[in-house]
Amino acid sequence: MKILLVDDAKSVQMVMTARLVSYGHDVLHAGNGQEALTLFASAAPDLVLMDLEMPVMNGFEATSRIRAFESTQQWAWTPIIFLTSSDTVENLVTAIEAGGDDFMSKFVPEPVLQAKMKAMSRIAALRQSLSAANRKLQDLASLDGLTGLCNRRSMDLRTDQLWDQAQTLRESFGLLMIDIDNFKKFNDHYGHQAGDDCLRQVAQTIDTAVRQANEQGHTQDAFAARYGGEEFAVLVPGAQDTALQQLAQNIVSDVQALGLAHTLNAQWGVVTISVGGAVTSAAQGAVVDLFRQADARLYLAKEGGRNRAVLAG
Ligand code: GH3
Ligand code: MG
Ligand code: MG
Ligand code: MG
Repeated sequence: MKILLVDDAKSVQMVMTARLVSYGHDVLHAGNGQEALTLFASAAPDLVLMDLEMPVMNGFEATSRIRAFESTQQWAWTPIIFLTSSDTVENLVTAIEAGGDDFMSKFVPEPVLQAKMKAMSRIAALRQSLSAANRKLQDLASLDGLTGLCNRRSMDLRTDQLWDQAQTLRESFGLLMIDIDNFKKFNDHYGHQAGDDCLRQVAQTIDTAVRQANEQGHTQDAFAARYGGEEFAVLVPGAQDTALQQLAQNIVSDVQALGLAHTLNAQWGVVTISVGGAVTSAAQGAVVDLFRQADARLYLAKEGGRNRAVLAG
């Protein structure tokens, strides 16, 4: 475990640290409650051993503040054991009230300390597997299972947030709607499995182009999502006309350059996409209007022969 040991007495720090290290733990030190808070936030320990009486901020207050901090985090409960030289009933009750989980004398016999640390290690392991499971669940809920892009649900949530932000800051907002050309024919000819594979590769290509635009500073916080079926969306908060145009063009040519055979796709012979784009200089009204406009231009791109991007009326 990574243990945060909070005590103002150097002698206690030394004795406890030697014992804990001999059981195989890593120990971080704080000399008062204020230092403990800072270290807790930056190091995320598995266990806190907390002295009661300390200068600057005592153990009770530090514990209450740690609990308050934890309540702002996703899911968090770090065991806190109070260390004291006076284990009175009053101290025990106050310690638990303040958010402590246990109470132990600084002169705790070796086997008792070792046994308690064993129990705490089991809790630490449990917390780790819980947060891993939690992360996995979050991914499952927000990512599209086939392509790994944001799914429609998380795209909608994020779009609403970004749109609100753009409205507040009077910033521009761009959108690309992307649709694979003649994909029904692809499925009919190559099979559904190959269709899925194609979707994955196209998604990957779009995602890479968007990431590159972000990295090169042409866009900020742009992200791609699977809108549904064989359609994708790219949201570009703060988009400039030329950057959006360039990104759309890159995506169109990158997908064609993939060279995925599609003999029934008109003159191209490979998988291609069509893109409709729209940008608003200052987010106003409803984001759904931007989607409508991009969708209308996607239709124009299809009408115009496919394998192209249309970003103007
Ligand atoms: P257009 O060029 O006008 O876009 O023609 P299209 O054939 O691509 O358009 P249409 O909407 O007629 O067909 C879309 C096809 O996408 C039909 C559907 O079977 C296929 N599709 C949608 N989702 C999936 C999927 O998850 N996997 C596979 N393999 N196919 C999908
Ligand atoms: Mg003290
Ligand atoms: Mg479609
Ligand atoms: Mg299509």
